[in-house]
Amino acid sequence: MNNKTESKKAIIIGCGVAGPALAIMLKRIGIESEIYEAVDCLSDFGILSLTSNAIRMLKILEMYDQVKTDDTEGAFFYKQDGKLFLTFDVRDELKKHGNETGFIIRRSQLLQALYQKAISENIPIHFGKKLVDIKESNGDITALFEDGTKIKGNFLVGCDGTFSKTRNIILPDSPSLKYTGTVWIGANAGDSIEYELQHNAFHMTFGKKAYFGSAIFSDKKTIWWTNYPCSEKQLKEEFDSVSEKQWTEKLLEIHKDDPNVLSDLIRSAANEYVKIPLYDIPHLPVWHTDSVCLIGDAAHATSPYAGQGAAMALEDVVVLTKCIRDISNLSDAFTKFEELRKDRVEQIVKMSLQNGELMKASNPIKKMFRDKMLSAILNKSIVAKLDWLFSYKVNWDEKIKL
Ligand SMILES: Cc1cc2nc3c(=O)[nH]c(=O)nc-3n(C[C@H](O)[C@H](O)[C@H](O)COP(=O)(O)OP(=O)(O)OC[C@H]3O[C@@H](n4cnc5c(N)ncnc54)[C@H](O)[C@@H]3O)c2cc1C
Repeated sequence: MNNKTESKKAIIIGCGVAGPALAIMLKRIGIESEIYEAVDCLSDFGILSLTSNAIRMLKILEMYDQVKTDDTEGAFFYKQDGKLFLTFDVRDELKKHGNETGFIIRRSQLLQALYQKAISENIPIHFGKKLVDIKESNGDITALFEDGTKIKGNFLVGCDGTFSKTRNIILPDSPSLKYTGTVWIGANAGDSIEYELQHNAFHMTFGKKAYFGSAIFSDKKTIWWTNYPCSEKQLKEEFDSVSEKQWTEKLLEIHKDDPNVLSDLIRSAANEYVKIPLYDIPHLPVWHTDSVCLIGDAAHATSPYAGQGAAMALEDVVVLTKCIRDISNLSDAFTKFEELRKDRVEQIVKMSLQNGELMKASNPIKKMFRDKMLSAILNKSIVAKLDWLFSYKVNWDEKIKL
């Protein structure tokens, strides 16, 4: 580490996955940072599957022990009539390839762990600070927030997710987000629900009109979601005006020809439905300016069908910190970061979209093709095919060269 990095101060926008992780790693190389988060508290809903590549990053962050849960038992796929037609369990194969098997975690658990570690390292986190503008001059940065706050720093990292304001400000002409045609709608299942399937596993049902997922944690609590087909027009014109009760009716309607347990899960919802329209960015030509850089979903928003968004955000954190540590000129460090990361993340974003398209097969021929494809893809051979994904390693101690 050189004197230049020691005196720099970073402004981090967003306290999701990438933001606190980056602050922790910057601190390790002697850079102070502050995190500014738009909402008032950490998000408390969602599920993440963390694979071996994410696990390696958590180990570098020295956070693996805090977040590790029981190994995943894999995924179980059911046809519309509820019959199990495919079990996906490649734990032994992953181990043979030198990879850990991965685990399922509540998103809130990961966010809490990152938050607690950042706080324990005296990293200031400010909630209710929504970024609205950025001014760059003479190598300094001023971030402006909706409540009138102005903060100065030497560089800024946009960890503000799919709808990144940082991206809109620094790259106003960048390609816009691409809508996938699907809204992810989910909730925690109520305690009364009887759903005795394998724990620590995903259960996926290809319903008549939509693909329904659920995961059961080791404490037997269940989270469920459906992949609701929704046109862009519908999304813009009707989406926000639909009441919670109407949503229940819509979800029950869409799954009325599917196994009853799906409707039971929908009716049991223990919280308001969380609705996430799914977008991605297949390619962003540039990720940075001289003093501002994007990481995580802000740089490469992805649909969730590869289960890799958080993993990519953590990989970005480690690689960007190394670049800043080893390359004294910030703009060069950002350029190197982009060069080291872009091909990999674009490949994952593309794969995720393709997975999503396959899952939402709409007519009998496409459904037959999907079932055949899944049986052909989701077996032991996938571990070798996706070795580039799961075996990704970053050697923290190795110096990066320009
Ligand atoms: C349904 C679903 C399932 C998923 N499943 C998986 C999975 O199994 N495995 C996996 O690895 N990934 C998964 N992901 C992806 C993963 O959640 C994201 O890729 C990951 O959270 C990206 O981290 P991030 O820090 O870039 O963005 P986020 O975690 O989204 O954090 C961005 C933060 O920035 C804040 N923010 C936004 N705008 C502003 C502003 N103007 N000012 C200040 N703050 C702002 C937001 O409030 C938010 O807290 C899934 C995603 C979805 C939607």
